[in-house]
Amino acid sequence: MPATTMDQLVSLCKRRGFIFQNADIYGGLQGVYDYGPLGVELKNNLKAAWWRSMVYERDDVEGLDSAILTNQKVLHYSGHEDTFSDPMVDCKKCKGRFRADHINGKCPNCGSTDLTEPRPFNLMFKTAIGPVDDGSSFGYLRPETAQAIFTQFKNVIDSTSRKLPFGIAQIGKSFRNEITPRNFIFRVREFEQAELEFFIEPGEDEKWHEIWKENRIQWWIDQGLKKEHMNIYTTPKEDLAHYAKACYDIEYQFPHGMEELEGIANRTDYDLGNHTKAQEEMNLTSHCHKNPDSTQKLCIMDDNNKWVVPFVIEPSMGIDRGVLAVMTEAYTEEDLGEGNSRIVLKLKKHLAPIKVAVIPLKKNNEQIMSKCHEIKKNLLKLGIGRVALENTGNIGKAYRRHDEIGTPLCITVDFETIEQQPESVTIRDRDTMEQHRVNIADLPNYLREYFL
Ligand code: ATP
Repeated sequence: MPATTMDQLVSLCKRRGFIFQNADIYGGLQGVYDYGPLGVELKNNLKAAWWRSMVYERDDVEGLDSAILTNQKVLHYSGHEDTFSDPMVDCKKCKGRFRADHINGKCPNCGSTDLTEPRPFNLMFKTAIGPVDDGSSFGYLRPETAQAIFTQFKNVIDSTSRKLPFGIAQIGKSFRNEITPRNFIFRVREFEQAELEFFIEPGEDEKWHEIWKENRIQWWIDQGLKKEHMNIYTTPKEDLAHYAKACYDIEYQFPHGMEELEGIANRTDYDLGNHTKAQEEMNLTSHCHKNPDSTQKLCIMDDNNKWVVPFVIEPSMGIDRGVLAVMTEAYTEEDLGEGNSRIVLKLKKHLAPIKVAVIPLKKNNEQIMSKCHEIKKNLLKLGIGRVALENTGNIGKAYRRHDEIGTPLCITVDFETIEQQPESVTIRDRDTMEQHRVNIADLPNYLREYFL
């Protein structure tokens, strides 16, 4: 059974070093978290899995890594300055501030129903740029990674000669001044997104929207999420963002409820249309803002030698919500009988922060330790990820720790290893807890087959 309360995860994350409250020693900064020694590995592995599936395994996607600081004009013409807001209410009794659509007309702090009328609160972080802070020179921390994909559209096609359909993928930080950050890393003010903008011929958008929906569901299953813990929510027409023609949310059963993990939107030609110059020549289908500032036509030649502004399908997921989802799913409390139990994180092996732990049976034994170092060095050459060397001297404790952090395999070096030929070690499997002996000479092949 996966984690049922957020406390189980919060406690594991702190105890074992996955995720810490930011600025913990000063009481924290609300809605901001830091990834610890194991969290950084898990998060990097999830990002690598996304990048591999989006960029390396496809022939129709290029990558991008754009800046976080964003020219004000980008977020003006994208529509974010005017419309990227949530409805906010104040409680007149306790002065608390909340997102109106999260609280059902009642203050979650004091229970009062004496609330102000909802008013829009813009979620973007505005920041001064340059040495003169007189309000005239400012930019934003980007609230999504997507806009730079649109503004770099022409540079990417000019430098890669791409034809439709093709996509541009990006992973990076985004910032939103959420009115009420909550539920651990689910809703935070600084987070990471993995976004693909997939450009297609107008008219092919509905087909590609379905293809991407199926692709993304399968990807989440490959990351370990059970299909029965996911839900596909189709946004009703009347609730769609003004630029979207259709939108699916992949929702996951988080400990606090079934909530959005990834959105897959059909954004039509709205974004490129807003950022292009010469809009009147472009046959745009969307209602775009007039743009006298753009210096480029954001269109592409199609197979019939006609210039078109492509439609775009956007699968957009939160990496932090992804980390939370795979941890929720993997978290298992197992009853081992006779009053014993263990917590085991049954992460998919490609996501596990530590792939292999090399453990000496006896602490500080020179011969055993030198064999451990040698094994670790050789295993690293396989490129399977992090291999950790333990020197705790308490094998039971080491196994328990590695179960809790999801290490798929533990290799134990004992006296038999150094005293008998051929040299061999014990390999213990995280999920079955079974152990068997493998010759050291066979380890590279064994692990290559297991991990790659
Ligand atoms: P929500 O409705 O939950 O506020 P959203 O619909 O505004 O999310 P999008 O703008 O579609 O979210 O962003 C795409 C993805 O980015 C979301 O599916 C989510 O995984 C992630 N995301 C958005 N806001 C946050 C946040 N404040 N903290 C963590 N992840 C976020």
